[in-house]
Amino acid sequence: MQFIDVTQSFYRQRDLILVLPILKLCIVMFNYVTPPEMVFQEVPKEIALCFTITGCPLNCPGCHSKDTHDPTAGSPLTLGVYKQWLIDYKQFISCVLFFGGEWEQKYLIKLLKLAHKLELKTCLYTGKNNLPNTVLEHLDYVKYGPWIANLGGLESEQTNQQLWNLHTGELLNPLIRATRQLDD
Ligand code: SF4
Repeated sequence: MQFIDVTQSFYRQRDLILVLPILKLCIVMFNYVTPPEMVFQEVPKEIALCFTITGCPLNCPGCHSKDTHDPTAGSPLTLGVYKQWLIDYKQFISCVLFFGGEWEQKYLIKLLKLAHKLELKTCLYTGKNNLPNTVLEHLDYVKYGPWIANLGGLESEQTNQQLWNLHTGELLNPLIRATRQLDD
């Protein structure tokens, strides 16, 4: 006759209940829209490989990237996948640009460090108005500010958004405006 040790089974279940939330905290959801794009105008004087990270929690009214708000959209940007993109593009680019991702700060910092290690500059476009120094110290450029439709984007004179060169302290909005006017 087989005896079931109910005490042990109870403890196993209880342990699982305790461990699951911890496991969940350890899993980083950091998906990106594939493939990343090479961009020429988002960071003045740089050719950037741009990663759009899904899961932006800001929900700016009129956001034109609503399809990227779901954090499960896109594909996981694992360290291995990211490194391979940088290696493949390194000879064509000077900078790595992230559209979002600051909500997974520790993981983003890892990716920024890796870009610097490969001698690429780094830029983050965030909808926030500020970032902690722990992130800023790994960036060469930052764009601050949520999307406010009636003020427009970086090319607008009225915009609330600001693109900074963090080394020189230069506000780069005028350069963005000049480049986009040339294109019109
Ligand atoms: S920060 Fe950008 S992606 Fe996020 S909600 Fe605002 S406009 Fe959309």
